[in-house]
Amino acid sequence: MKSAEIRQKFLDFFAQKGHQVVSSSSLIPANDPTILFTNAGMNQFKDVFLGFDKRAYNRAASSQKCVRAGGKHNDLENVGYTARHHTFFEMLGNFSFGDYFKRDAIVYAWEFLTTPAGLNLPKEKLWVTIYAEDDEAFDIWHEVIGLAPERIIRIGDNKGAEYASDNFWAMGDTGPCGPCTEIFYDHGAHIAGGLPGSPDEDGDRYIEIWNNVFMQFNRDENGVMHPLPKPSVDTGMGLERVSAVMQHVNSNYEIDLFVELLKAAAKATGVEYNQTTPSLKVIADHIRACAFLIADGALPSNDGRGYVLRRIIRRAIRHGYKLGQKGLFFHKLVATLADVMGDAYPELRSRQAHIEDALKLEEELFGKTVNHGMELLEQALAGGKTVLDGATAFKLADTYGFPIDLTADICRERGLSVDMEGFEAALEAQRQQSKAAGQFKMAAGLAYEGSASHFHGYSETSYEATVLALYKGS
Ligand code: ATP
Ligand code: MG
Ligand code: MG
Ligand code: MG
Repeated sequence: MKSAEIRQKFLDFFAQKGHQVVSSSSLIPANDPTILFTNAGMNQFKDVFLGFDKRAYNRAASSQKCVRAGGKHNDLENVGYTARHHTFFEMLGNFSFGDYFKRDAIVYAWEFLTTPAGLNLPKEKLWVTIYAEDDEAFDIWHEVIGLAPERIIRIGDNKGAEYASDNFWAMGDTGPCGPCTEIFYDHGAHIAGGLPGSPDEDGDRYIEIWNNVFMQFNRDENGVMHPLPKPSVDTGMGLERVSAVMQHVNSNYEIDLFVELLKAAAKATGVEYNQTTPSLKVIADHIRACAFLIADGALPSNDGRGYVLRRIIRRAIRHGYKLGQKGLFFHKLVATLADVMGDAYPELRSRQAHIEDALKLEEELFGKTVNHGMELLEQALAGGKTVLDGATAFKLADTYGFPIDLTADICRERGLSVDMEGFEAALEAQRQQSKAAGQFKMAAGLAYEGSASHFHGYSETSYEATVLALYKGS
């Protein structure tokens, strides 16, 4: 089943269950400084959950464009390394605004996954997790759905940083949140990875496909949870992950939406097409995030959202460089993306020329310094060093336009680390100096002429605060 059919099937299924089908909102949050980019289907309904806004419907379904490359949900570091993470992905979701709650949400999800009205997946391939204390969810899965108790895994919110799973979902540090139940698909014993909640859960055998969140609280700035006016439901299913399941492949990068992009990335960088080359996967992933962000009004810049976009573009360029492509190539992938996804997202076609121009300009800009930066990096690492010193990392950022996570990414590929304390110290010294001088400025030649990104809400965020916050993933 093609991704486009799955998307349509999902929306039709929930429309039939009385849900209003709503279009994806922009990747740039309209009026919300608490998130960097739209990171989930529920974002556009945040005020409805909070009781500040009312809609003509109390059930909705959507296929939402999401970017997770900063802030609370940040998957940038996972791209190229896992089979299931993208910076840009589509989230299928059904929502109840004070209408149905746990029982119906679970029954709908199961019906969609396991019956011919939906995807008709074999039940024995599915596992679920619930929030540790949520006995109500346990009873629904066990008694109503008929799942054996050992297939229902209880997971708390205090397992420690070494565990990826967390069954208390939150949009950001503040805002709507609640316990959740997640559905996993077993891709088979030939793939490495343990059950959710086990120490080796981070493999790609059991892949989380769908999260059903029981929205019950609003977390404030002090971490205090206030009950929402009405218990609600927010669900999210990654389209690329279900497509992988339906297309009998383990990796998202092998689904229909990615094949042509990977081929185009190979052609543009001048290498053999191969679905497993990490750099090709990164480039194919990043062109989606960058093109969709620019289509929605973002432009590369030195702070806030524009800086995140710049980081993603430069990462893609560096991966092209790694494959031996030192010329301009990245903007050439927009045409293929518009072919593959333009039916579902017409903005890719109507804004194609603008997207290409913006990417090309950034390629030209970074192209001026990337060679010198790489030389500096090689020199600094010569002689079998295992740590890159902070001063060099800073010089790479300040003079050669290497965002710190890009430098860290290069080092990580070689099993090296970056002296982050040294980097922060150099940054702080620079900050003090620039405070004295009035305003922080990137080195000459790096300023982006077209940096008139129209984002609000991040204007108070300085370049260095952004860099540090993003690096720390806060
Ligand atoms: P994971 O644990 O795999 O990182 P998550 O728990 O962070 O996923 P949720 O916030 O629950 O994800 O989002 C709902 C759904 O969106 C997930 O069940 C998954 O199918 C999909 N999804 C989340 N992050 C990504 C991503 N980076 N790329 C592709 N799909 C994603
Ligand atoms: Mg995640
Ligand atoms: Mg998860
Ligand atoms: Mg989840």
